[in-house]
Amino acid sequence: MNAPLMQAAGAAPGAVETAPLTAIEPEPGWRAAALRVAQIAAQHADSVDQQARFPVEAFDAIRRERLLSTMVPARFGGAGLSLADVAAICEILAQGCASTAMIYAMHQIQVACIEEHGSEVAWHRDLLGQLVENQWLLASATSEETIGGNMRTSACAVEIDGDLFRIEKLAPTISYGAHADGILVTARRTAESAASDQVMIVALRDQTQLEKRGGWDSMGMRGTCSEGFRLVATGLAVQILPTPFAQIADQTMLPVSHTLWAAVWTGIAADAVNRAKAFFRAQARGKPGFVPPSGVRLAEAVGLLQMMQARLAIALDAARAAHQAKLGTCQADAPLSAMLSFASDMNTLKTSISMTALQVVQEVLLICGMAGYKNGTEYSVGRHLRDLHSAPLMINNDRIAMNTASLLLAQRPAAPGRA
Ligand SMILES: Cc1cc2nc3c(=O)[nH]c(=O)nc-3n(C[C@H](O)[C@H](O)[C@H](O)COP(=O)(O)OP(=O)(O)OC[C@H]3O[C@@H](n4cnc5c(N)ncnc54)[C@H](O)[C@@H]3O)c2cc1C
Repeated sequence: MNAPLMQAAGAAPGAVETAPLTAIEPEPGWRAAALRVAQIAAQHADSVDQQARFPVEAFDAIRRERLLSTMVPARFGGAGLSLADVAAICEILAQGCASTAMIYAMHQIQVACIEEHGSEVAWHRDLLGQLVENQWLLASATSEETIGGNMRTSACAVEIDGDLFRIEKLAPTISYGAHADGILVTARRTAESAASDQVMIVALRDQTQLEKRGGWDSMGMRGTCSEGFRLVATGLAVQILPTPFAQIADQTMLPVSHTLWAAVWTGIAADAVNRAKAFFRAQARGKPGFVPPSGVRLAEAVGLLQMMQARLAIALDAARAAHQAKLGTCQADAPLSAMLSFASDMNTLKTSISMTALQVVQEVLLICGMAGYKNGTEYSVGRHLRDLHSAPLMINNDRIAMNTASLLLAQRPAAPGRA
């Protein structure tokens, strides 16, 4: 069991109670709920990883705590939390089980897309209400066979027949597709449309056939069950979000994904650093009066983690400001991502945090040595390292860097003294 999670969840054996020096803000209910779920997720994380199975126990707890609707606005019955608060939940969950946190993050990305681009449509408003009531879990099918990781193009196309649609897609990876209550699918607008003229469809479970085409025996993130499927869905044409997918991707999907993924990766790295700190303290106890040599690496790992947290905090501050702006104005004037749509900043958030997290855990492995390398010890970080190797691939960092390079080329030269 993860000691910091135990303590944070209120189970601190032998803890000495001290009077607080300053008034402490009451802890928000969602934070305590996230800590309770993280504790359960941590108990099952190894078995989820070993069996590459969906984290059932964690998601039962997430549903019990009603955390799947945290980002749904209060007017639809949700908790109406900001992206920054949802990121904090992702970070907490990732300290228990990375797959649980990544599934949770991916679900929230879909919620954000529907809320921002569908809530003017009665069908989508009703869907958000149902999601709150039934704690539905949403997945996504943006990647496609023959297209690779370029989610801004599709080969498959929507077929419209009167008020109805049909879509057929060969999806190489749909995380937790077999466990989802709905899947957001990208496709060309019509059979005649260009590959980049895409729409996003919300397909519900009872309207969708999933024929499994590939398993998920992966290096890490094994609990995400990111299998390949032939997806065939039918339904009402109103289920297609009215905004073009290019706009959904730029305004919402990419900034929200990069922020929440970064929070997940930061949480994984933080848990590894906690293990390194515990190992270091145990080493120090073994030889009183000496600072163990691994302390230098620990200082390095802590410094890198703090840089990640600081980088993430900048994105979260922007998210908080956007949330406040949204609460204070009409929704159309201030979309959630209004202050997050600085594409190149969002790109570098993703690429830098994904790589630094790996570096942090690599340091932790050197600190913990064999105790970290072996599975099943309190210092094991093999799962953390394997899980984090997915980070640079989830939309390949090279692909993102090429995009950043184009954006940088288009930018005006900075004023002297500014980056
Ligand atoms: C844990 C996990 C969960 C996932 N869940 C989902 C999901 O739920 N739904 C979903 O749709 N997808 C999902 N994906 C897929 C993911 O987001 C990417 O789309 C996918 O991993 C890209 O596949 P690829 O690496 O084969 O292809 P590519 O991104 O095409 O990369 C293949 C190679 O081509 C290179 N390359 C290609 N084009 C360029 C370019 N323009 N610039 C630079 N390099 C380029 C890359 O560097 C790389 O070497 C998931 C992936 C992971 C790891």
